[in-house]
Amino acid sequence: MKIITTIKEIRAALNQEKKSGKTIGFVPTMGYFHEGHLSLMRKAKENCDVVVTSIFVNPIQFGPSEDFETYPRNLKNDSKMAEEVGVDYLFLPSVEEMYSGECLAYVDVEKITKVLCGANRPGHFRGVATIVSKLFNIIQPDFVYFGEKDYQQLVAIKKMVDDLNFDIQVVGVPIVREKDGLAMSSRNKFLGLREREAALVLNKSLNLASEMVKNGEKDSIVIKKAMKRLIKKEPLVNLEYLSICDNIYLQELSKIEENVLIALAARVGKARLIDNVLIEGN
Ligand code: AMP
Repeated sequence: MKIITTIKEIRAALNQEKKSGKTIGFVPTMGYFHEGHLSLMRKAKENCDVVVTSIFVNPIQFGPSEDFETYPRNLKNDSKMAEEVGVDYLFLPSVEEMYSGECLAYVDVEKITKVLCGANRPGHFRGVATIVSKLFNIIQPDFVYFGEKDYQQLVAIKKMVDDLNFDIQVVGVPIVREKDGLAMSSRNKFLGLREREAALVLNKSLNLASEMVKNGEKDSIVIKKAMKRLIKKEPLVNLEYLSICDNIYLQELSKIEENVLIALAARVGKARLIDNVLIEGN
């Protein structure tokens, strides 16, 4: 695995690969790898000749009171894990490399990014869409891999790729969970023992909602009430939002439709956690 830190070098290396007709799969990340990240890399490995992973904790997607400074980092361990999975290039640009000089151009995906996490994190998705566009322009991948864990990010990137005519196929990869159901996240590191136990209620509430839909419940208010009742039993969990919405534009649904996304965010101690379930074919 080659570790590259400059835009010039990664461009030169990937140009060579493309000249020999190889397809490029790309997995953008913020590092501190777990099985969720590795599942994206494995999927890329299955589909593409060359796999590129980037680690970049992107300052412009964090709000002033968010965890940019304390975001977990462990480059040594990440490199080892990426190499074991068979990543060919690990791209590790510095903040100065990605944002040299004054940056005046940004990418904004409207509508989809104004709800759910976007309503509570102003500027977050503009930061995400901008860095992802920059990385797409640098790497020029054929396929890119995003986790369904960040469902809103996945649909926003898909829309951006369509609307701005990036010649890239976006692949969504299912959520990887711990054995007890907690969605894997780099931010789980912030959870104390008791908080980690309490956080399980998030997945449990999503499972409860799925059961209710399977049993024919169509009223979103009834489902939300049942979920909130369950979540309230854990005082360490502070729900930020709970949404029952369509899976394309993420707009609230009062009645369950054929495909429905149930998504939530909560604060548990120092961690802000997100989770979701997509229920199809109702
Ligand atoms: P991050 O490093 O948190 O920015 O995540 C990088 C990529 O990994 C994103 O596409 C995430 O959606 C994906 N990802 C993070 N956690 C998981 C998970 N538990 N299951 C699947 N994908 C994940």
